[in-house]
Amino acid sequence: MSDTADLRDIFNPTDGKAIARIPYSTRDEVGSATKAAAEAFEPWRESTVGDRVQYLFRLKQVMEGHAEELATLNTLNHGKTLAESRGDVRRTIENVESAISVAYSLSKGSNLDQVSKGVDEQATKEPLGVFAIICPFNFPLMIPFWFLPYAIVLGDTVVVKPSDLTPVPMQRMAELIMEEVKLPPGVFNMVHGGAEVVESLIRDNEVKGVTFVGSTPVARTVYRIAGEAGKRAIANGGAKNCIVVTNEAELDSAIPPITSSFFGNTGQRCLAGANLIAVGSIKDELLDKFTRSARALKVGNGLSPQTEMGPVVSKKAKERIESYIQKGVEEGATVASDGRGVLVSDFPDGYYLGATIFDDVSPEMAIAKEEIFGPVASTIHLDSLDAAIEVINKGTKFGNMASIFTTSGREARDFRRRVRAGNVGINIGVAAPSAYFPFGGMRESFFGVLHPQVDSVDFFTDRKITISRW
Ligand code: NAD
Repeated sequence: MSDTADLRDIFNPTDGKAIARIPYSTRDEVGSATKAAAEAFEPWRESTVGDRVQYLFRLKQVMEGHAEELATLNTLNHGKTLAESRGDVRRTIENVESAISVAYSLSKGSNLDQVSKGVDEQATKEPLGVFAIICPFNFPLMIPFWFLPYAIVLGDTVVVKPSDLTPVPMQRMAELIMEEVKLPPGVFNMVHGGAEVVESLIRDNEVKGVTFVGSTPVARTVYRIAGEAGKRAIANGGAKNCIVVTNEAELDSAIPPITSSFFGNTGQRCLAGANLIAVGSIKDELLDKFTRSARALKVGNGLSPQTEMGPVVSKKAKERIESYIQKGVEEGATVASDGRGVLVSDFPDGYYLGATIFDDVSPEMAIAKEEIFGPVASTIHLDSLDAAIEVINKGTKFGNMASIFTTSGREARDFRRRVRAGNVGINIGVAAPSAYFPFGGMRESFFGVLHPQVDSVDFFTDRKITISRW
């Protein structure tokens, strides 16, 4: 509950109508949340591993029971299709399962007897205390769960700050955690707001570390503030992902995953394709098939079973993406498909855009270098795989994902080894690591050492070394 007078409308991108009002937490409320988390920490870390695991089993059960409700809320607030939201919920639950497995495996320490006469050494992993979890808009449930279940199963307590655009699914999840999972009070806490709330959280003395997922400028700021305050941080930033298609590709099987990479989630995935790099003579056939596939996508209300691409998240996002399309035109790229002005008859006020494809893009253009984060593909033609790898490694400052479509093992190996991207796809359009792998990122797509998902075990624990003689 919040006493703040600062209530903000939250919108459904399908029709532009407000669906909820969210209280922006005051500084005092942020302090109360971190205090509650700090007070809950000692008893929580003293609970048994088995007890904590039982809470996660319960959490999984509750989420399974409410999966359709959560997916529907996800679509209502974010706009993505219901099928995509169902996928999000599955991957959210997968992280709970992965955290359960961690509790009995990766959280263990190690021991070496007789390091010298009668002396043994033991390393144990211990929880640290309160963690702040700051989230972006595009996966309202899944991204908090890249961290939350791991932190709590390891004995830490958390304060989650969902996106200020899409807080509704996580707000419902918070109710379920309180009412049905019944975690002890203070183990899980949630605040709402924007930059001010984030900064108060990071600077709060009770907070021992922070996880952030969002755009690169904010990731850099969060990492810097956390560093100044002497706190550990994981900060995942933005992306500009390249999909390379060579003459060796099997085009018919490649087109569906490529289309889904660029336009799934309406292009609002940190692993979405952004630049399509055609290597060699395949370019004309590739562009023709890709454009036909993209134009056929049915744009509309995410709750309608026929819809293949929902709206973008906000009016502001729509305007930003349209301004990039205009910039592409001004930069001299050829418009192969223009998604502006798409009409969804029942929802004239929704934030819709169709699939936009640029051809003849040069790597120096802004539309090839900057993150647009919408349904826009920039097609670049190059003569060799070497040139494509050069563009991936030097053309943008990001290194989140790179994919290649080829039937040549040699090309695939060369690509995997040489691209400076944290997630690499080989004949995969969205190279999303499962929960039981770290979620990588390189260069300005990531600030930190340890990564989301299973890697966070070492982030959420400290090492203690005990040397004993008896
Ligand atoms: P964003 O950076 O605008 O916001 C992320 C979070 O930071 C939100 O909770 C927001 O309230 C808060 N915030 C915004 N401005 C802030 C500021 N100045 N100081 C402190 N906090 C601030 O990102 P977004 O628009 O919500 O999400 C889209 C971005 O996230 C894209 O750049 C996308 O690539 C990235 N993303 C990255 C990954 C990854 O794993 N690398 C995953 C998902 C999304």
